Amino acid sequence: MDIRINKSKELKKKPQDESKLGFGKIFTDHMFVVEYDEGEGWHDARIQPLENFSLHPASSVFHYGQEIFEGAKAYRREDGEIQVFRLMDNCERMVNSAIRSSMPALDPEFQYEAILKLINLDRDWVPHSEGTSLYLRPTMISSTPALGAHSAHNFIYFVICSPSGSYYPNGMKPIRIRIEPFYARSVKGGMGRAKAGGNYAASFKATKEAQDAGFEQVLWLDGVYKKYVQEVGAMNIMFVIDGVIVTPELGDTILPGITRASVLQLAADLGYELEERSISVDEIFEAHAAGRLSESFGTGTAAVISPVGEYSYQDKSIVLNNNEIGPVAQRFYDLLIGIQFGTVEDRFGWTNVVPRS
Ligand SMILES: *Cc1c(COP(=O)(O)O)cnc(C)c1O
Repeated sequence: MDIRINKSKELKKKPQDESKLGFGKIFTDHMFVVEYDEGEGWHDARIQPLENFSLHPASSVFHYGQEIFEGAKAYRREDGEIQVFRLMDNCERMVNSAIRSSMPALDPEFQYEAILKLINLDRDWVPHSEGTSLYLRPTMISSTPALGAHSAHNFIYFVICSPSGSYYPNGMKPIRIRIEPFYARSVKGGMGRAKAGGNYAASFKATKEAQDAGFEQVLWLDGVYKKYVQEVGAMNIMFVIDGVIVTPELGDTILPGITRASVLQLAADLGYELEERSISVDEIFEAHAAGRLSESFGTGTAAVISPVGEYSYQDKSIVLNNNEIGPVAQRFYDLLIGIQFGTVEDRFGWTNVVPRS
């Protein structure tokens, strides 16, 4: 499939003060769009000026929430080239999310090609300041204008780009996490493994309640026993117990994070002992009481690494590593940020320069 390019005639003014970018509030000049109709397949792939969609109010995405997305970043290197980090993994995960959501797959190679073309066209939007990046948001929605409660027949895949600020403008800082005792984000057999908008809709109430109580994030427990830890908001979670890096094993209920996979690969390469297994809340509190839990951190594209300073569960609370960034979290943060921005050698083939054509 060819990608038509329809350049915007009026380029927007780029933000002058990159310290005020924030996250996901400003968008570049262009978007990528491709449409799917049952019987015809994917067609009409184009890069076009960013504009509003016009959708019938009966469109299935509005009623049944058939929607999936991805999150990735493009980084400006010191030599001015732009590079992406494991973007093909995002494109492949999008296919897995589509299959789980009864949506049509879009060839990952084609997604990848389209996204690189889009970044190239909007390359001047990739910010320059330390820690900033161009956030990429591939999305797929169902667009059939009919209220029948079944999988739709028409879909739109699109990609928008947003210059985004450093996640830690004032330096990395440990966060306070509430272990959620009541609500569940996902259950066995559910949608937890898909990056789907509905999973987020299901999580906002708990997150809001935790934030109102002074916490930054929620650590989800399994939906059946309310005993085993799963993941945090938009991050996977890791613990360092007796020097071993422990993280919940993947399954139906956990999003297979690319940052998670990268940390595990780096950790194995550096000779850390790793365990992917079930971890109960009791184990965390007991390991802490015995002085065996030295640190814990979240992993995700937005923050890369987010050290945890405190866990609170019902009426109990523990402070980790004196509420300071631990050496393991700091090490993986420095390595990953270095590889992503091209200042640390990429020995894993994770990065690709965006071609200028
Ligand atoms: C995106 C996401 C993550 C992190 O995945 P990365 O690929 O590392 O960004 C973790 N959990 C959930 C629920 C997510 O949506």
